[in-house]
Amino acid sequence: MSVISRFAPSPTGFLHLGHAYSAWKACQRADIFRLRLEDIDRTRCRPEFSAAILEDLRWLGLEWSGDVRVQSAHFAEYAAALERLHERGLLYPCFCTRAEIARAQSAPHGVERVYPGTCRTLPPASQKARLASGQPYALRLNTQKALAQSGPLRFFEEGHGWMNAEPQRLGDVVLARKDTPSSYHLCVVHDDARQAITHVVRGEDLRDATHIHVLLQNLLDLPTPAYAHHRLLTDENGQRLAKRNHAATLRHLRESGTTPEEILQRFKDTP
Ligand code: GLU
Repeated sequence: MSVISRFAPSPTGFLHLGHAYSAWKACQRADIFRLRLEDIDRTRCRPEFSAAILEDLRWLGLEWSGDVRVQSAHFAEYAAALERLHERGLLYPCFCTRAEIARAQSAPHGVERVYPGTCRTLPPASQKARLASGQPYALRLNTQKALAQSGPLRFFEEGHGWMNAEPQRLGDVVLARKDTPSSYHLCVVHDDARQAITHVVRGEDLRDATHIHVLLQNLLDLPTPAYAHHRLLTDENGQRLAKRNHAATLRHLRESGTTPEEILQRFKDTP
């Protein structure tokens, strides 16, 4: 079986070493390597960053097969996938603001990752009234209900073997917002299937997301690829490389005389 992997950056900034490492890891693993631009957030993504990402990948010598899949061209497909989940009764509107979620969790450091479920149990009359009043809302997945429909799920993770999916790790994730009628989680599973991805190779920061993705794949009758989660590159202080760290962008490294060979060597030397 051919291994088909992908790199799926969001064009919200220039490609930095951490992203490039992910792209290289995915490319190394693949017989066929595909590219996708995750640009559904129309407020943060910019066409100039999309163009720069393609140019930087080429400069590094990473070649992809076929057309680049650009998510913003496929909103109708995501809406259809969302509708399927809606028909199964698995979505609910959430009217909570970030501040309200933080208060409900009484989290000292702001919003924690798992939504406390406040709007899941809203009385139908109150839900109806809030929808009618035009109050903004997000659509969340009722993860417990979805799990009850799917039953136990497993996926293969390289280096770990067969794993039980635990979608409750991320709880009731947002699948659509008013301003962005889709979400990362929904698009990623739809697109991995559309691009016939057999192996998802990405950073370990997305490991918990994998558990939700496996559930969504089951609900949408999509195949589950194998997964590999690599360690994240860090800077000299052991901090994860961030997009705002200009010194780590491929652009900057290239302008200051670093060669693609030097970057690839660093990747090869990374344990
Ligand atoms: N677009 C995501 C990011 O830039 C990566 C998605 C994925 O690899 O599944 O973090």
